[in-house]
Amino acid sequence: MTLSPRAAAAQDSRAARDAQTRALDSAPLIQVHGLRKSYRTARGTLDLFQNLDLEVATGEMVAIVGQSGAGKSTLLHILGALDSPSDGTVVCASVDVRSLNMRQAAAFRGREIGYVWQFHYLLPEFTARENVAMPLMARGISKAEAQTEAAGWLDEVGLSDRGDHRPGELSGGEQQRVALARALVCHPRLLLADEPTGDLDNTTAGLVFDLIERLHQSHGLTSIMVTHNMDLAARCARALRLENGRLKPLTEAAPPVSSSETNKTQSTFSCSI
Ligand code: ADP
Repeated sequence: MTLSPRAAAAQDSRAARDAQTRALDSAPLIQVHGLRKSYRTARGTLDLFQNLDLEVATGEMVAIVGQSGAGKSTLLHILGALDSPSDGTVVCASVDVRSLNMRQAAAFRGREIGYVWQFHYLLPEFTARENVAMPLMARGISKAEAQTEAAGWLDEVGLSDRGDHRPGELSGGEQQRVALARALVCHPRLLLADEPTGDLDNTTAGLVFDLIERLHQSHGLTSIMVTHNMDLAARCARALRLENGRLKPLTEAAPPVSSSETNKTQSTFSCSI
């Protein structure tokens, strides 16, 4: 994927500014200690996390793998103030996430966190540029200004010629690239990605991961990515396995992968990036 001169210049200036700002902050961006999460279900209490600890340094890129149902999505939701723990400390970007009320949590998410999910969740009736502009407009930025900024981000993800396309007119890889631009348009510090390549064929998944890696570096992001793709997990600076309610280095012995997980990992779709 080649960038236009305008996109490259915009990227360089944003990168320099962001990297400078973030280099000043050397404390871990995420500090989780003694995390517990329990669900009451019809069949009793489900204890998902038991004294889970996690520290993620500013600028680090961490992969989390684990069996389906291990709690990976729940952990991302707790880190991103979308769900509450039953107990424990969760400090993210110097904010005690548990102390936030609903309004404060929404502001915290808008300011600090970019989310990307397995499904792009772009609004089908709006163009790619309008989808990317939406978080800015939600913060009170004028439509014209938001769309100009969105166009810069579409350049940056290599989609300057797709701004007027609706999501249904884009390939799976392109939809995820638009979703990435939307996640980052407000310049969050933390990128939380939940199976961002899980719905893509292997080649497209690799290209989307290349883009995540590039944006992570150029914008000084701290990134946590849940994935079933061991090749992509191995490309992150640190890879952890969520198992029995705790996080362990991926290098420790792994349980056998169930056939349904294997199928999920290997499923392919015919889409191009
Ligand atoms: P993963 O992302 O690793 O596949 P999840 O975080 O989605 O796992 O879910 C972890 C477990 O928590 C699953 O067994 C799921 O059924 C359970 N769970 C998630 N949300 C709820 C809920 N609101 N009530 C009860 N159980 C839940």
